[in-house]
Amino acid sequence: MAAETNPSGAFDSSCDPSGVRPPADVEVIRPRGSGGPIAHALFDHDGTISTLREGWERVMETMMVREILGPRFADADEPLRARVRGRVQGLIEETTGHQTLVQMQALAEMVREFGFVPGGEVLDLHGYKAIYARELAAMMRGRLEDVRTGRRAAEEFLVPGAAEFLRLLVEQGVKLYLASGTDVEDVRDEARLLGYEDLFEGRIYGAVGDIRVEAKQAVIESILREHELAPAELAVLGDGPVEIRLARQRGALAVGVASDEVHPGRLNPAKRERLVRAGADCIVCDYRPAQALLAILGK
Ligand SMILES: [Mg+2]
Repeated sequence: MAAETNPSGAFDSSCDPSGVRPPADVEVIRPRGSGGPIAHALFDHDGTISTLREGWERVMETMMVREILGPRFADADEPLRARVRGRVQGLIEETTGHQTLVQMQALAEMVREFGFVPGGEVLDLHGYKAIYARELAAMMRGRLEDVRTGRRAAEEFLVPGAAEFLRLLVEQGVKLYLASGTDVEDVRDEARLLGYEDLFEGRIYGAVGDIRVEAKQAVIESILREHELAPAELAVLGDGPVEIRLARQRGALAVGVASDEVHPGRLNPAKRERLVRAGADCIVCDYRPAQALLAILGK
């Protein structure tokens, strides 16, 4: 998976896969060939702009392992725990970027497959989602409260440079879209709390409680259809393989955001690997190389 460098040399990678050196530029995987300036940009939310939900994977993993083991949770030996944990980690990696209901449907299937929970006690996807939502809310409560009361600045929960980059895009006439696998009301509330809701002018989408509706796919299709866009006029920016794969399938420019949510400004090598595998055209760790990114977007 050799990273190809822009022939101009202008956008050499300086993202350091070890995550030690602060990245200052854009890693170009596949130089953008034809296509004029980007007119529309769709952003994933969690991990791409906001880090308010940082740690959701740990909450989900703990909850899934517990639900799969069920009555065996207390006495399961370490090899069994490790086996369940390994499967759960694979499930989460595979489904990151999809809406929570998709993840919970996969959990319900896995609970049945392992067979520790009696058939009649296995919950459905909505039942498991309620448990996960409750535990995630407990983790986030303090953070939301800290931002609401001003104890902590909103910027502490943003991928570095995100707010500024969104503003730059709007100034350049780019229409912004926010599309998330998180429930749409939560996406709106968090975008408002972090201070950039207005930049999206109402174009904020998320899960609506229907497993058949995937916001990211629906929004990409409707942008291309309604605006009769050439796919090259659309950029999709995200930290998950789901949105990057969708962008590639439709011929949009795919910008992978391999953000380290625990250490803002560093590259997350595991994310980078997944994003490159999903077909990202270029990789950033955050939005500090805004000018280089704008140039790639044809701005
Ligand atoms: Mg994400």
